Amino acid sequence: MQEVPKSLWQRATEVLPGGVNSPVRSFRGVGGEPFFVREGAGAYLVTEDGTRYLDYVMGYGPLILGHAHPQVVAAVQEQAARGVGFGIPTRLEVEMAETLIRAMSSIEMVRLVNSGTEATMSALRVARAVTGRQRVVKFIGCYHGHHDSLLIKAGSGAAALGVPDSEGVPPAIAELTLTVPYNDIDALKSVFKVYGKEIAAVIVEPVAGNMGTVPPLPGFLEAIQDLTKAHGALWISDEVMTGFRVNYGSFAEAQGLRPDLMTLAKVIGAGMPVGAYAGPREYLSLVAPSGPVYQAGTFSGNALAVAAGLAQLGVVSAPGFYPPLVERTGRLAAGLVERARHYGIPASSNQAGAMFTLFFRETPPTNMAEVMTCDAERYRQYFHGMLQEGIFMPPSPYESVFVSAAHTDDDVERTLRAADRVFSRLAQ
Ligand SMILES: *Cc1c(COP(=O)(O)O)cnc(C)c1O
Repeated sequence: MQEVPKSLWQRATEVLPGGVNSPVRSFRGVGGEPFFVREGAGAYLVTEDGTRYLDYVMGYGPLILGHAHPQVVAAVQEQAARGVGFGIPTRLEVEMAETLIRAMSSIEMVRLVNSGTEATMSALRVARAVTGRQRVVKFIGCYHGHHDSLLIKAGSGAAALGVPDSEGVPPAIAELTLTVPYNDIDALKSVFKVYGKEIAAVIVEPVAGNMGTVPPLPGFLEAIQDLTKAHGALWISDEVMTGFRVNYGSFAEAQGLRPDLMTLAKVIGAGMPVGAYAGPREYLSLVAPSGPVYQAGTFSGNALAVAAGLAQLGVVSAPGFYPPLVERTGRLAAGLVERARHYGIPASSNQAGAMFTLFFRETPPTNMAEVMTCDAERYRQYFHGMLQEGIFMPPSPYESVFVSAAHTDDDVERTLRAADRVFSRLAQ
């Protein structure tokens, strides 16, 4: 009997946990088997079996110029030919720090790391060192990476004490993380009333992107700024997703606010592993070797990765880069809602800059509890319907859609026509 060759997915599931190196890629959020990508160009992907998809996942945010943008490719090729990384200072690291500092008025120094996870982990360490306190506050539904202090979900009942959101996270660490519903100023005030003297930092996605896109309600970020200041805690604006995605630089700063610490990754690395934490000299000079907060990395400031990021930031810094991208994103978000409703399907969306989420519920959610009332089964059907139309939407109802400068007006129109067909079938 002839042996049937194993599919790539079969091979993957034998050697990688769940077949993947990051959970959402497994399609468990929508069912079915993921495809394997062979290459990407602009707004499109080509799979191992030759299918072409219009891509709205864009590496989960980093690829604001689309796949294989010529300037990013050139920067990577030129740098690779000169060596990928050295573990010795390079001009590129200085230029990256200077570029970020020019883009954001609240930061004076930057430490480069390799991921968003590392950035938030290190920023918390700095905040704890600055304040001499241990507790941190996070908002339910925000994601800040997978390290122990922030892989935390809400505890039972009204208690703010967090519990691990994963096996293997020590409850003793989880208890130091207090959880509050997103956009709930009163709950945040209550937590400060009880724990105010013990809170080192409040960390927040200034626009939540990891429960789907959920913008801050008026006054929410201001309340975080005021409460942290009043209680001697630091405000960490986790702009790993929003930074250079919603606008050039920081979203919080664009609202006229001044976070104490900023965390970045995704767009600043152009799809390569780059993260950063940044803030005033007063705080960043506590980091080793200038200060007592230890943090290091073999690949931190890696030349190849930083060259890619700098090339991308160079392109997006051009005047007029964001408005058409944001306008196109808005047209897509509004168009999807309009077509779903046309077929009697309850739908709404939240948009921030070049990201949005289509929610299958009447009104746009403002927190995780509301997000959870969306129709996940309908999302599953929508996802697979769109995939059949050659359009790759996020494989989970709780992710944001990322639009890039490579997505054209025609791509948007094509997407809306496909959605029209999908919704008309779903409504039957
Ligand atoms: C993606 C993300 C992270 C984690 O970044 P990784 O590079 O995946 O470790 C942290 N915070 C926010 C807001 C993110 O969107």
